[in-house]
Amino acid sequence: MSEAATLDRPAATDAARPLVVDNLTKHYPIHRGILNREVARVHAVDGVSFDLGAGETLGLVGESGCGKSTVGRCILRLVEPTSGTIRLGDDDITHLDRGAMRPHRQDLQAIFQDPYSSLNQRMRAGEIVAEPLVNFGQPADRAHIASLFERVGLRPEQMDHYPHEFSGGQRQRLVIAKALALEPSVIVCDEAVSALDVSVQAQVINLLTELQRERGIAYLFIAHDLAVVEHISHRIAVMYLGQIVELAEKRALFEDPLHPYTRALLNAVPIPDPEVTRDRTIIGGDVPSPLNPPKGCRFNTRCPLAFDRCRSEAPAYREVKPGHYAACHLND
Ligand code: SF4
Repeated sequence: MSEAATLDRPAATDAARPLVVDNLTKHYPIHRGILNREVARVHAVDGVSFDLGAGETLGLVGESGCGKSTVGRCILRLVEPTSGTIRLGDDDITHLDRGAMRPHRQDLQAIFQDPYSSLNQRMRAGEIVAEPLVNFGQPADRAHIASLFERVGLRPEQMDHYPHEFSGGQRQRLVIAKALALEPSVIVCDEAVSALDVSVQAQVINLLTELQRERGIAYLFIAHDLAVVEHISHRIAVMYLGQIVELAEKRALFEDPLHPYTRALLNAVPIPDPEVTRDRTIIGGDVPSPLNPPKGCRFNTRCPLAFDRCRSEAPAYREVKPGHYAACHLND
């Protein structure tokens, strides 16, 4: 699918689409023997393409190990992509080294799952939020930091507290304040609410949504839970074994899924209404190893609708309906 995965849209040259990912691939070679020969490759990400508009949230979902976090880490330049292109605004950041990437860090921030490990336990909360401003030579006076605290629902007097004095939800608010400090245009949220209680998840999602409306921030929201992604996303991309198999506006994806894997994920989402029943087709088997992905369609070993062609020919990832992309022979 990697060749066919490019969206047929023009390259990004404007601030309206702050992030464009084109045919992104990340393979991890495995070396063995005295000559350290490459004997295999882990296909973590294979030909992933999408764009992200200003003020838009794109949800990236899939089972664990499908490569969604690797996509986020490639964009953040925490791992080096094998091939493909990542554009932030007008700039190609695909292979920038740490120094060259520094000016772009202001525009590209991250929120990870475990706020406890991403906060320096020896710094006071106010210093943590001020740190990126100080690093980039921007004003970091106490009044400004206090306003950031208030904006994310923390009290200004908490600036003098240490991270261990905050609850899990408050720590995630602290991370959000830190991510906001430099006024980025894109934030990668990698399982940002997965570790929180359900009621706190809703509060943090509401906060992220309000901040997006105010500031036009674009979120790449990576999560395994489709119900959470549904609440915050405008569009949703579904990943399976290193590839995007379907991408569409949220409503289109939920009402008219075009890929059997998406249908199976949707069927697994609980409905809080005993009157409503749903097809409960369960997909069998385990996700195949990314070391040796199946030939043809990567989903063929688990797909209840697979037929001969699926085992020999990879389906093209194409626009089946306006703005609705999918990779399945059944849409031909
Ligand atoms: Fe299933 Fe075949 Fe479609 Fe793949 S191409 S999702 S195996 S029907």
